[in-house]
Amino acid sequence: MTNQPIIGFLRTGIKSECIGCGACAQVCAHGALKMSEDLEGFRYPVLVEELCVNCGLCNKVCPEENDISKYHLRQKAFGGYAKDEGVRCMSTSGGAFSCIVDTWCKDNYVIFGATGNGIDVYHSHITDKAEIKRFRKSKYIQSKINDTYKDVRIFLKEGKNVLFSGTPCQIAGLRKYLELYRVDTSSLLTVEVVCEGVPSPLYVKKLDESLLRHYGGTISNLDYRFKDGKFDYIGRPFSPTRKGRWDFEVMRILLSNGKKLKKDRWFNPFWSIWLQHLMNRPSCYACPYATQKRVADVTLGDLWGVHIYCPELYGGNGGSSVIIANTLKGREALRAASIGMVGHEIEMDDVIRFQGPLRRCIPMNPQREAFMKDLEDRDISIEEINKKWANRPSLKLILSKYIWGNHQKVRLWNLKHKFSGK
Ligand SMILES: Cc1cc2nc3c(=O)[nH]c(=O)nc-3n(C[C@H](O)[C@H](O)[C@H](O)COP(=O)(O)OP(=O)(O)OC[C@H]3O[C@@H](n4cnc5c(N)ncnc54)[C@H](O)[C@@H]3O)c2cc1C
Repeated sequence: MTNQPIIGFLRTGIKSECIGCGACAQVCAHGALKMSEDLEGFRYPVLVEELCVNCGLCNKVCPEENDISKYHLRQKAFGGYAKDEGVRCMSTSGGAFSCIVDTWCKDNYVIFGATGNGIDVYHSHITDKAEIKRFRKSKYIQSKINDTYKDVRIFLKEGKNVLFSGTPCQIAGLRKYLELYRVDTSSLLTVEVVCEGVPSPLYVKKLDESLLRHYGGTISNLDYRFKDGKFDYIGRPFSPTRKGRWDFEVMRILLSNGKKLKKDRWFNPFWSIWLQHLMNRPSCYACPYATQKRVADVTLGDLWGVHIYCPELYGGNGGSSVIIANTLKGREALRAASIGMVGHEIEMDDVIRFQGPLRRCIPMNPQREAFMKDLEDRDISIEEINKKWANRPSLKLILSKYIWGNHQKVRLWNLKHKFSGK
């Protein structure tokens, strides 16, 4: 065992102590740390002892080892959706991310975000916002961060305006990295997504293998939350004024042989297994960023609870966003973005009430170890995993989603308002 001043995780081997931000690997000028996948598919630093010069930089840059300041004093929340229906339809929630990019990135800018086909997901940058669709849509696995912190440092030094988006742990890694090099961050805007944790990439890999066996093609694109714009929520054919099906999002898979598959949100084993907290990264169960205090200038999420506390922002089931400005810079970005949106300021108390990840981290399912053992077992197919571990939706859930769902509640609210003349 080495006695070098390496990061805690490498000393203890306790996986929950590594968030996988990759700052240590990027800071190491000697290539002594490489990010590598473990059996569960999560990436961790691995030390090449003979290359380590004992400089201790990895220890200094690690956000798990060093406290990071969090913001909350100037928080302001905004609920709403993009005026441009096309943008809204192509985004996960209400298209807030695109509205921020559109107004904040004026000139001399670089935008970082997560891209990829849904099973191979990685961070990258663009210098033309016309390419923003590469970053749109939540890909629900941890993206490979590659050398993007290094790139941000270079771009900031060159005087560019940088917008960096990612999960809170990735923002924490970036901030620690830039702090270490004392980089001036006045032209950096950090944008994080509210994060319930990242699931094991092994699940979608196994799904991919099964699709190849059954349909003769591998996944070329996986849209975790495809808004099927074909029909609106009561089955009327799509029209430009009635887009989106946010409550009924399906997982849409495009295969290499051109086949298309769709799986309804409420009958999809992926969501059932993930949301039972059976396959998250170990550090997600102890996430230091699952709190009201945030690490980024701006936080983006779904406007959960919209049908209860601000039904006027539901906007026909096309998707709604919450934007939280955590700093003065965040407020400026929010103010500018809101021009391209339908929406208004909302209370932080309401936001927090409906956003679990702003209150506490997810609990680990006591069955996680048994589940992951099955998932890692090459002799157990994804069909067997689903049968054993996924819950079928209860009758109550089916009734509440399809018969008396949020969209009906909002329609009733609209009717009441119409007749009360308010
Ligand atoms: C792993 C994960 C868990 C999430 N959990 C929640 C939750 O519990 N509650 C909630 O309200 N919202 C959650 N979100 C955020 C939500 O899904 C939307 O991403 C967010 O509301 C922005 O949507 P949008 O319509 O503004 O824009 P979109 O254009 O759809 O935004 C995409 C943004 O997400 C980033 N992104 C996409 N995939 C990844 C990834 N794998 N890693 C890092 N960044 C990524 C892109 O860089 C871009 O900034 C989660 C997102 C992710 C990636």
